[in-house]
Amino acid sequence: MAKQSSVTRFRLKKALDTLASKEGRGTELISLYVTPGKQIFDVMNYLRQESCTASNIKSASTRKHVQDAIVKVMQRLKLFKEPPQNGLIIFCGAIPHGAPGTEEMETYVIIPPEPINIYLYRCDAKFYVEPLEEMMREKESYGVIVIDGSGAAYAVLRGRRLEIVREITSGLPGKHRAGGQSARRFERLREMEVNEFYKRAGGYVNKIFSPLPDLKGLIIGGPGPTKLDFESGDFINYMLKQKILAKVDTAYIGEQGVKEVVEKTPEILRHVRYTEEKRFVQQFLYELGHDTGLATYGEFEVREALNKGVVKTLLLSEALEVTRVFVKCSSCAYTEEKSMKSFEIPRFEQELANRPCPKCSMPSLAISEKKDLVEELADLGDQTGVEIEIISAETEEGAQLLQSFGGVAAILRFKQS
Ligand SMILES: [Zn+2]
Repeated sequence: MAKQSSVTRFRLKKALDTLASKEGRGTELISLYVTPGKQIFDVMNYLRQESCTASNIKSASTRKHVQDAIVKVMQRLKLFKEPPQNGLIIFCGAIPHGAPGTEEMETYVIIPPEPINIYLYRCDAKFYVEPLEEMMREKESYGVIVIDGSGAAYAVLRGRRLEIVREITSGLPGKHRAGGQSARRFERLREMEVNEFYKRAGGYVNKIFSPLPDLKGLIIGGPGPTKLDFESGDFINYMLKQKILAKVDTAYIGEQGVKEVVEKTPEILRHVRYTEEKRFVQQFLYELGHDTGLATYGEFEVREALNKGVVKTLLLSEALEVTRVFVKCSSCAYTEEKSMKSFEIPRFEQELANRPCPKCSMPSLAISEKKDLVEELADLGDQTGVEIEIISAETEEGAQLLQSFGGVAAILRFKQS
């Protein structure tokens, strides 16, 4: 799951962007969320009822579009004996492509990456994608620890939801010794007490964050150097220590300090991801630069390597805006596919209309499917169990991947002859 997460996110984000941009002519776009445990039979009954209700809609075109969409949704739903493990989401509606009458029925079936917990039917002018957007945000949880000489606070951040789990005080006396006490003795005592506090504070870190199965990382904050001493000492168990993403300076402690850290998290996480992305591209560049034979790039070459099953890591630029177009002949079984920029598609479509099928010579070639190239290559990689990383163009390395290597590169399992 963690390995695939940049791809999962990319796919869901693409799908959401597409869905969110669609708008119906009237209140006629259907969104259906089916929870994992739901009976398909019950959902079908519900839809039948909705179809009856829709017969009261005044506008003839809206009425027809809603009823047609419900039929389509039911057809798709019928393909499932029961909802998949994470449930099922269907979007369907007539999308206008210009003047009235140009509407085309579009259906999208989405199997969410995580279980959905809402069952709902909605008919609106737009598709209802908010729960999915929320799911994308809610995906990961992070632990936040804010510590200084006076105490520590612990919080869990899930998506945008922040929960302060615990606050403790150190019980440490001030740094100034009382009269009559020797300086050495005071120092030694204080050191022991600080050590005790760190042990106690570390115990809470282990107790609070170890049981969280989906913990992606820890961020330690606080004013001054305490957080650094605490982190470098032997107070946090090594599994959790590996998850520390950053140490952040804050002006405050306690809840206020936690909030300061949370404000900086998007930046921290972006930085963490950028560091990962840089590392992947750097490894590719290393293999390429040292002529190890373990790197290849370019859509054609990488596709070939994928088909041969020799790819270890597939690097795809998020900013690659290329569509894979699939062509089918409706008279024979002939197919072909080609990659192009989206602005080239209309011209290609026209060209197809004027070109006879190379196999049966009938004028029946047409585009059967269009797919984002990144998604298409990621699908190909999925079939052979490849590590797939979607690389943004925000880092120098990411920009290089896009500009110098066509946005498609691979690190190979072994040298190709
Ligand atoms: Zn043909």
